[in-house]
Parts: sequence; C-alpha cells; structure tokens
Amino acid sequence: MGFTPTDTIWFNGQLVPWADAQVHVLAHGLHYGTGVFEGMRCYPTVDGPAVFRLDVHLERFYASAAIYDLEIPYTQDRLTAATHELIRANRLESAYLRPIAFFDAATLSVWTRECPVTVAIAGFPTGAYHAGGPDHGVRVTISPVRKFDNSAIPAWAKACGQYINSARAVNEAQRRGFDEAILLNSQGLVAEGSGENLFVVKGGAIVTNDKDAGILMGVTRASILEIARDLDLPTRVAPISIEDMLGADELFFSGTAVEVTPIREVDGRAIGDGKPGPITRRLQQTFNEVVRGQRAEYRKWLSFVRQPVTS
Ligand code: PMP
Repeated sequence: MGFTPTDTIWFNGQLVPWADAQVHVLAHGLHYGTGVFEGMRCYPTVDGPAVFRLDVHLERFYASAAIYDLEIPYTQDRLTAATHELIRANRLESAYLRPIAFFDAATLSVWTRECPVTVAIAGFPTGAYHAGGPDHGVRVTISPVRKFDNSAIPAWAKACGQYINSARAVNEAQRRGFDEAILLNSQGLVAEGSGENLFVVKGGAIVTNDKDAGILMGVTRASILEIARDLDLPTRVAPISIEDMLGADELFFSGTAVEVTPIREVDGRAIGDGKPGPITRRLQQTFNEVVRGQRAEYRKWLSFVRQPVTS
C-alpha cells in the first residue's frame, strides 16, 4: 500500500502541508514503539465520501491508548471532525486513513510520563493492499514467527511496537514467495495474519477466532460476523487449529486494508478448488456494497463527510 502524497495532514490540531508533518528523531514512540494507531477507509457513496465505522475505529483508538497510559488530548468529537476536515481538504474519495498518537521527544527513559503526546491523521488515495488479492485470492504460509502472548502485549490494542512481530512474519513469508503470513499463537493455534483476521468456511458455516487467540479485534471481523448473520449464514466464534485451516472449504482474510480477501493456498495446498469460494464471494460482494452505502440497512455504519442529501 504505497501512498501518493496529498496536500495536507492533520497534525496536532491543524492541517499542515504534507511535507511539514515531521517528528523529532528522539521521539519516544520511534525508539520504543510507544504509540497507537488506527487504519480506516473512506469510500465514495452517492452522498459523497463516507468513513466506514469511524466511531468504532476511534473508540478502539482511545482504548488502545489507555493500555499504554497515553492520553489523547482531543475528544472523540474533535477527531471525528478532524477526519472529516482532512477528507474534505484533500478532496479524498476512496482513501486509507491513518490516525496515530504517540509519545514524543522529551526523555529516553523507558517510562513515558514526561513525554508530550503527538496526534496526527493522514489520508491518501488507495487501492488493494495485496495487488490482485480481493479478486484472485492470496497465497499464505504458516509463519515460523509466533504471535506474542496477550499477557505480554495485549493483541487487541493496536499499538505501534507490536508491528515488529507482524513485519518480521510477513517479510519472512514474502522472502519465501508467499503473499502473507499466518501467525500461530503460543498454544500452536491460529492467531491471525500480519494485519488481518482470519475466517474459515466449513460446511456452510463461518468460523473465526476470538480475543483469547491473540488477535486484534477487527472492525471488519465484527462487521462480517454481523453481515453473515443477516444473510442467515451460520456463524461460530471458536479457536481455529492448523487442521481446521487446512481442511477448510474456503478461507478468507478480513481487515480494513485487505477488506475481504480470499485465501487460495496455504503452504502450497489449495483451499477448496484453489479459487475464491462462493460464500467468500457473497460476503465480499455484500461488504463492498455496504461500505459504499448501497445497502440502506447498514448506512448507520457510515460517517458521511458531507451531510447526506435528504429530500
Ligand atoms: N489484525 C491485525 C494484526 C491488524 O493489523 C488488522 C488491521 N487493523 C486487523 C487484524 C484487522 O482489523 P480491522 O478490521 O479493524 O482493520
């Protein structure tokens, strides 16, 4: 997901030129990973751009911050308005949005109490995270890099430093020619991808794992579970073993960046017939309509940047 620079970034309370949104090399967050972030998307709708589940993403942002004693010096209403301002100022339609809050430069002690907090929101036009992934599916490998334990770093808080685990896993997978890594947890059960939650489809039912598996509680994951129930597809939240994964009829990833991305192979073994399966396609299609405001019953999930036109 490369980025094309836009005009401005929201930086500590105001929109500044893209090139001016700089931080000091002694920022605490840079040295120790002491920051939290979100990944959100804005989609074009007939009523103008809308952010998918902005409220839920921002709630997770504050919840992640609380784990690390990081006080975000702006209210959620202010960050909601800031996100809208950013989208309007940069005339974004289909965009990835990245709020971040981190401890800035003041000390190199590991504790953070002296550090000011910097908050920024950047956004840029974007397409697929894995090129061709949503259409053709991705090829994954079970990573030798294990997911950290919740007792060390809560995986459900989206903190900067934890992504060294993800980066190591996905880099290793890509060195071996795969698109993405599946990380197992310390019990040897499936946790998640480096930046995605995992779903198994078996016998028509949809299964995904839970917090105790060491996953980020994805906003897309929760949305897919709700959409699946509305489509009368049986859903189950339960641990996923390697065998469950390899024996699946269909497998797919969910996430803001990957949206719904089919998995067509695990370590060279085809899943199903090696092509995106019908249930994955149905959920993907519905999700794609939901985020673009084409399903009236889910418009409540969209934060419209312009007021919707009502007649
Ligand atoms: N797991 C990890 C490790 C992630 O980084 C992400 C992306 N935020 C997800 C799962 C999916 O979460 P969401 O649907 O909220 O984007």
